[in-house]
Amino acid sequence: MKREEMLLQAREGGRVWDLLVIGGGATGLGIAVDAASRGHSVLLLERDDFAKGTSSRSTKLIHGGVRYLRQGNVALVIEALKERGRLRRNAPHLVRDLAFVVPSYAWWESPFYGVGLKLYDLLAGECGFGASQHLSEGEVVAAIPTIETAGLLGGTRYFDGQFDDARLAIALARTAADHGAVLLNYCAVVALRKTLGLVRGAVVRDAESGEEFEVSAKVVINATGPFCDAVRRLDKPGVKPLISPSQGTHLVLPRKFLPGDAAIMVPHTDDGRVMFAIPWQDRVVVGTTDVAVAAVLPEPVPQAGEVAFLLATANRYLADDASADDVLSVFAGIRPLVSEEATSTASLSREHVLLIDPDSGLLTVAGGKWTTYRRMAEDAVDLAETLAELPPRPCATASLAIHGHDPDADRHGRFSAYGSDAPALLAMVKANPALGAPLHPELSLTGAEVVWACRHEMARKLEDVLARRSRSLLLDAAAACALAPKVAALMAGEICGGGRGEGCRVDTGARNSTRNGAEAWIAQEVAAFEALAGGYRLATRLATHK
Ligand SMILES: Cc1cc2nc3c(=O)[nH]c(=O)nc-3n(C[C@H](O)[C@H](O)[C@H](O)COP(=O)(O)OP(=O)(O)OC[C@H]3O[C@@H](n4cnc5c(N)ncnc54)[C@H](O)[C@@H]3O)c2cc1C
Repeated sequence: MKREEMLLQAREGGRVWDLLVIGGGATGLGIAVDAASRGHSVLLLERDDFAKGTSSRSTKLIHGGVRYLRQGNVALVIEALKERGRLRRNAPHLVRDLAFVVPSYAWWESPFYGVGLKLYDLLAGECGFGASQHLSEGEVVAAIPTIETAGLLGGTRYFDGQFDDARLAIALARTAADHGAVLLNYCAVVALRKTLGLVRGAVVRDAESGEEFEVSAKVVINATGPFCDAVRRLDKPGVKPLISPSQGTHLVLPRKFLPGDAAIMVPHTDDGRVMFAIPWQDRVVVGTTDVAVAAVLPEPVPQAGEVAFLLATANRYLADDASADDVLSVFAGIRPLVSEEATSTASLSREHVLLIDPDSGLLTVAGGKWTTYRRMAEDAVDLAETLAELPPRPCATASLAIHGHDPDADRHGRFSAYGSDAPALLAMVKANPALGAPLHPELSLTGAEVVWACRHEMARKLEDVLARRSRSLLLDAAAACALAPKVAALMAGEICGGGRGEGCRVDTGARNSTRNGAEAWIAQEVAAFEALAGGYRLATRLATHK
């Protein structure tokens, strides 16, 4: 996946793509994989970095959705459970089983949740991740040593899946590229182009060069998630919004607050939702909230009330209280929830919507969740084939291996998430052992991963490596800042003419391959990253709001 080569292909004059996909999150990347693996030509454009939007800000669960069971939406649960099983099969290097404990503090909770979770097992059928079971008080404490024991009566254990959302996004981008798709980050669609009233192309702005160019396609798919109304307005300025944006915030705490292998699932918070405390990458992720927001921002801003609610709810279940000082990072994402009004006019299937504009033919795909991205993509490409009059071809993704597929990836140790690419990273370390050492005592990121991200994963900015190729920013925002200059220097060696011949771009717009150019790029990237990381550091955030 080399951006320069992809850009050349995208700018090829006179080329008409079968599909143009706008948006490089779970939805758009899933569509690119589906269409390319059916043999269609695909161009995907992402205005920022892959998964910069909601797709890097999830709770990191591949799940059937216990809360849908509570709502009685059995069909939705069955479908998500089926997708959960497929994803574990197709991306075993990225999806793993996780035990969840629902602790009981009232007499009715164990039987009530126990029956519900047995139904969850039954619905999963042969895709099950393990049978749920009743736990005594002692068994709950053994699974969650830090659980609040006052009033604890027992609990229920069940199993679901866990993943690294941004790494799955990169693996999907690479899978699409492996099947011939062309994908570009930092390329925004700024206008749509019509032929005889039908959307048949777009004007693209390359954020790196500032240059604009046009692309043409037989069908254009708007897969921009919570941002989809802005793209729909490029087609029809006055169009009614499809999305009711809702923000969810997560806190990241040190592992000592949840040292066991199991997560805590709180089935009913004070505001009637589900909340999780989950061990993830040697930290604990606590989330999430659900707050209606007016604006859909690329960097959603966690609110003080959300942070207070998450800490208060978590502390009810943890023996030792966590305080704001313990928070290593705070991050928020916007759910692409389809509004109730829109569901009456659009074909809402499952949790996602496929909307064809009756005049322009622009196809918008929104809603859903990470777990069901594959199913959304299948539905979208089926429809796109009809719209574009493409030869209908069967969907291949139900059993398509995702890039890096390796059922025994754990043997690669710290590089397990790279799956079948891990031996190549290990070979880099063998050739240059300095690349194998963690760059910061609190984070596992190594130089090899930084170099790999630049060479093979289209990392262009420091933020790409620290927030998404690795999850350093989410795991410990302060440590990520401390690490920033080292990582930027390694990246500059790769992309500022350091053997790659691509050159770094600094804000002057000049292409630099000189030492001064690299230094300017490093300074610019470190400053931009520190400004970004300020929003993830709770201490900075609280100080700013005082
Ligand atoms: C708090 C929270 C927790 C969640 N937890 C889970 C979970 O645990 N499990 C689960 O299965 N699901 C979860 N979800 C749902 C899941 O994360 C989303 O459904 C999914 O990521 C949406 O992906 P998307 O591609 O539709 O949107 P996005 O990921 O937002 O992608 C849209 C992309 O379009 C790009 N874009 C916008 N405008 C343009 C333009 N003009 N040109 C080019 N590109 C453009 C954006 O930069 C963005 O990258 C969660 C959601 C939230 C908010």
